[in-house]
Amino acid sequence: MADPVSEQLLRRAERRIPGGVNSPVRAFAAVGGHPVFIEEARGAYVTGADGTVYVDYVGSWGPMIVGHAHPEVVEAIQTAAAKGTSYGAPTEAEILMAEEIQQAYPHMEMSRLVSSGTEATMGALRLARGFTGRDLVVKCDGGYHGGADYLLVKAGSGAATLGEPNSAGVPASVASTTAILPYNDLAAAEALFAARGREIAAFIVEPVAGNMGCVPPKEGWLEGLRALCDAHGALLVFDEVMTGFRVAYGGATERYGVVPDLTCLGKIVGGGLPVGAYGGREEVMRKVAPLGPVYQAGTLSGNPLAVAAGRKTLELLRAEGVYERLEAIAGSVGSMLAEVAAEVGVVCTVQRVGAMLTCFFKEGPVECWDDADSCDRAAFARWHQGLLAHGVYWPPSPFEAAFPSLAHDDEALHKTRAALKPAFEAAARGGASA
Ligand SMILES: *Cc1c(COP(=O)(O)O)cnc(C)c1O
Repeated sequence: MADPVSEQLLRRAERRIPGGVNSPVRAFAAVGGHPVFIEEARGAYVTGADGTVYVDYVGSWGPMIVGHAHPEVVEAIQTAAAKGTSYGAPTEAEILMAEEIQQAYPHMEMSRLVSSGTEATMGALRLARGFTGRDLVVKCDGGYHGGADYLLVKAGSGAATLGEPNSAGVPASVASTTAILPYNDLAAAEALFAARGREIAAFIVEPVAGNMGCVPPKEGWLEGLRALCDAHGALLVFDEVMTGFRVAYGGATERYGVVPDLTCLGKIVGGGLPVGAYGGREEVMRKVAPLGPVYQAGTLSGNPLAVAAGRKTLELLRAEGVYERLEAIAGSVGSMLAEVAAEVGVVCTVQRVGAMLTCFFKEGPVECWDDADSCDRAAFARWHQGLLAHGVYWPPSPFEAAFPSLAHDDEALHKTRAALKPAFEAAARGGASA
């Protein structure tokens, strides 16, 4: 259970902020209890409002891959802030950022900076529709691509956790411009393309799903989508907002070797400040205003503080051996989960790709949303409460990935292991209170 100070803050927050939170998953609806209000964060740890220090596996939902308040990132932000916080005019730092993005994702010959992952996917999909002259967008059930109306069609993550597969306020006519398929089901994708291939502007997909929990692409899935898009003149859009710079420096594109037409980035690319980006080959990107007819703009796009934080984070990630270290750290977390669960006798499946992982409370493998959806939510909730009570702050939903960072040293891993035993025991206790 959360600390009494956070409980008090929540009561106050709830009077002025819906649910007391500015993004629904933060409300802990899936795990019960109250959200922890955060006072500060450093390295692998967050400190709650009552002073309790937790090992953090939320990592602001992905961006904090070098750890919280990394001194070099903080300094880069301070230096940029001292020169003015926003100009609404181009800067050299934005060119450097676009060049660095292209070096990591060579097919992103041109890119646009925006202020969130949501804006990145909206920009990419408007561009895909403008480029192809078609309206239909395809996404996977359980895939999350931000909050645009036509993407909140049976979305996973927050919406699924709250048991609201469709959002109110999305017109049916808008929702009907999106088709939904099961993740990892190439036969279903082939059937859809056979029936409606000429209408499809874009297939947007998380190349490693992260918003139904961590679900790796099955062999042939990404290659199959690439071939279908090519055969039918649709654009393949990789939503690498979560996986970009995480599962490899060059994201899932580098890891799996399938190259999309357009890529969306966010989270890590902003180093903990609001940044997103979308980009692709020049022929497509030249359709974006002011060069082309596809409008997209932002007052704070390419904001100097955000670009400074993002560029410094990317620089830290380019150091020798960083991704090997991430692999080792996340690998340890994954094995600890599996070992302690087996010790205690809890049925669960740990799925991990690089530094993102999920512990599903069910037999595996989990290959799509329907698989994930049938996990034992109550066991997860008890487990989560057990972790929290023992100083580990895990994502408060069974359908989210956890994000170890470079700051998760032996001490942090040791503390995690110590918390796992009582947490799995709580999960095993069935209906009894944790
Ligand atoms: C987080 C996320 C988004 C949305 O990014 P925001 O910055 O929250 O708007 C989009 N796609 C994926 C895959 C994400 O994980």
